[in-house]
Amino acid sequence: MIYMDNAAATRPFEEALETFEQVNRNYYYNTASIHPEGRRTGQLLEASRKQVLELLGLGGHGCVFTSGATESNNIAIQGVLKNKKQFGSTVLVSEIEHPSVINVIEEMKNEGFDVKYIGTKENGQIDLEDLGEKLDNDVVFVTVMAVNNITGVIQPVSEIAKILKNYPKVHFHVDATQAMGKVDMDLGGADTLSLSAHKFHGLKGAGALIVKREGIVRPVMYGGGHESGIRSGTVNLGAVAAMAKAMRIATENREENYRRVARYNERVRDAVSALPSVHVQPGGVPHILNLSFEGAMGEVVVNALGARGIMVSTTSACASKLAVLNETLVAMDNTEAIVKGSIRISFSSFTTDEEADILIEALKGVHKEIGGVLK
Ligand code: PLP
Repeated sequence: MIYMDNAAATRPFEEALETFEQVNRNYYYNTASIHPEGRRTGQLLEASRKQVLELLGLGGHGCVFTSGATESNNIAIQGVLKNKKQFGSTVLVSEIEHPSVINVIEEMKNEGFDVKYIGTKENGQIDLEDLGEKLDNDVVFVTVMAVNNITGVIQPVSEIAKILKNYPKVHFHVDATQAMGKVDMDLGGADTLSLSAHKFHGLKGAGALIVKREGIVRPVMYGGGHESGIRSGTVNLGAVAAMAKAMRIATENREENYRRVARYNERVRDAVSALPSVHVQPGGVPHILNLSFEGAMGEVVVNALGARGIMVSTTSACASKLAVLNETLVAMDNTEAIVKGSIRISFSSFTTDEEADILIEALKGVHKEIGGVLK
């Protein structure tokens, strides 16, 4: 089988798996224990933290290890807003965020916050003019993702950070889950950042919340005080060390991978654009390619590719079982037929030239097979 659903989960690097195993064999102690082995284990945790921050180029920031981006987003949104109530009650969120942001923000309405959505342009980027119009003195929180998980479109994070400099009480949260290891972005303007290891060839069950200054996030879960009290609970050190390892490999090879994956993206894009009734979405990071066979259901195309040995997804793995229209594609003003017929192909550093060739032939084959239903 050919795996092209890497925006949902990536295959771990061998080195990450080895690190996980070695750490669980040799450093199985609690990172908070003060006996000699506990201290040695705690040192490995701190070395992983330092490495993650250095690889991000954010040496002066804090890093709280979590179980993944869903947890990081939850802590950032709920933990920051606890501190903000006296300063204002408006929260601005882009309408194309992942459910682990949107659903938490929606829940904040029950805490008395007023939620406003920032619009999206047809090219898939958030509308900075709309952001400017919605910013006022009551706004305390803005959240925008770095790279969209449905289209791969890169969001203007550093421009937003520049705009928000004029609003000092606004906290700027960035969900960088799909950017890490894929594209070099300036993320230094964000107050908090979410990461997830399994999106860059680490293991599931590890992620990080990067925090600009101490004290800006309050805990949302209480316990023994691990991770500066922000994320209590014994740290999953094996997965954390494996994440740091995967991050190093992904970062060191990022440029070369970007160039190679961009070639695959372009070739697939060119081949399918020539077919009638195929709509290709604007792109960003080359790892994600979203296209629609207008008139067909995305699920049918995914299954037809599956029968040919290629694994892709409809929109995102989280939404693929739900009968709802994808919000990102709707926000970009796509027709219902395009949204319903959409599939997401996502490459990784393991994708090969040969796999890209097989994909192109398979897409052509499926197009012919279902030609009768296409618009
Ligand atoms: N944010 C984005 C943009 C994502 O793509 C995902 C996963 O698909 C998440 C958050 C959630 O990440 P995790 O699975 O680590 O909770």
